Amino acid sequence: MKSYRKELWINTSKRREYINITPEVNKCLIDSGIKEGIVLVNAMHITASVFINDDESGLHHDFEIWLEKLAPEKPHKQYQHNGYEDNADAHLKRQIMGREVVVAITQGKLDFGPWEQIFYGEYDGMRKKRVLVKIIGE
Ligand code: ZN
Repeated sequence: MKSYRKELWINTSKRREYINITPEVNKCLIDSGIKEGIVLVNAMHITASVFINDDESGLHHDFEIWLEKLAPEKPHKQYQHNGYEDNADAHLKRQIMGREVVVAITQGKLDFGPWEQIFYGEYDGMRKKRVLVKIIGE
């Protein structure tokens, strides 16, 4: 069995942002040389997500509105976590959107359903963060 590990570095220009990281994950898959197996992609930070959904800007806007209803950023003092920090909403948003995804690798390709793409969801950005890509197989 082969194994491959890589950290992707991401620094968003806004506090909240969605980035399609499918091309980077594909690059990792090609570098790994693995043709049959599994790829795990996870956020290495507790205020960011990795998830699979449609690459459609209207939907990403809908995520923003929906998450702000569930866990509004402001007022900051509504959250017990906010004292030294102001990112309680980001922890909650990440919890809803998830930590990681697992995708099957078949014949050297990400074995997606129709329209599936891998996204990095940032909820407390404007600083360097990492995503782990781990691939196992043969
Ligand atoms: Zn925090």
